[in-house]
Amino acid sequence: MKKEYIIITILIVIILIFCLLIITTLNNQSNSNGKSYRETIANNSDEPGSVEVIKNIGNPNSKKIAYVVGMHPLEHLTHETLVEILPNMSNLNYCYDIYVINITEDVGYYGDGLDNYENPGRQNGQNLAYKYVYPEIVNGDYELAVDVHSNIGAYDFKTFVFCPLKECMGAEYADNVSQNCENITYYAPQSTTSGSYLTIPLNENGIPAFYFEEYSFAPQYEKDRHMLELINAVDNLNLN
Ligand SMILES: [Zn+2]
Repeated sequence: MKKEYIIITILIVIILIFCLLIITTLNNQSNSNGKSYRETIANNSDEPGSVEVIKNIGNPNSKKIAYVVGMHPLEHLTHETLVEILPNMSNLNYCYDIYVINITEDVGYYGDGLDNYENPGRQNGQNLAYKYVYPEIVNGDYELAVDVHSNIGAYDFKTFVFCPLKECMGAEYADNVSQNCENITYYAPQSTTSGSYLTIPLNENGIPAFYFEEYSFAPQYEKDRHMLELINAVDNLNLN
């Protein structure tokens, strides 16, 4: 009788140790996938909006890449697509931070006659990008920055990547991404209104940066598919 009690006790202890081991392993696995968190960078009532960052997406032990969304508030459907998809992906190679500019003044709307370059919300977003996002990225130990936009279809291509400067790492990475994406071309428009607020000074100061442009009126399933292509191609870049 006594012997049986001892055996049962030993069995229970073994089972308990086993359970503890499984719980510890599961915890470690979720940690190595990284716990992302949201931080506010700027939320001043004098500004036409706020700036947040979603940090630590993907592999926290790897090189860091920044995405930027919200510089042009009318293009928000494409921005929201990235924010929906990227933080929910698993097995990413690199560690990602998404900078989110939320413009609340003069957002405008398509069809107001101001959507193509004259919408004052664009300037508000560019100003916040240069004031708050640029310093964070240039001092933030990033290997690359991707500025996410959309367009109304006035260019030769609708879904494309490009760097406003030639012969720099930003252009090389963008070219590499386009070569690995079925639906994303490398196409550099003649000029940009926003380059000097983010991608140009980043490239000039040591952080490769390029634009991703999506067609504003593409159906959501296409936006999703293109965004996945972009995310995967960026995640498979050979960073220097
Ligand atoms: Zn834009």
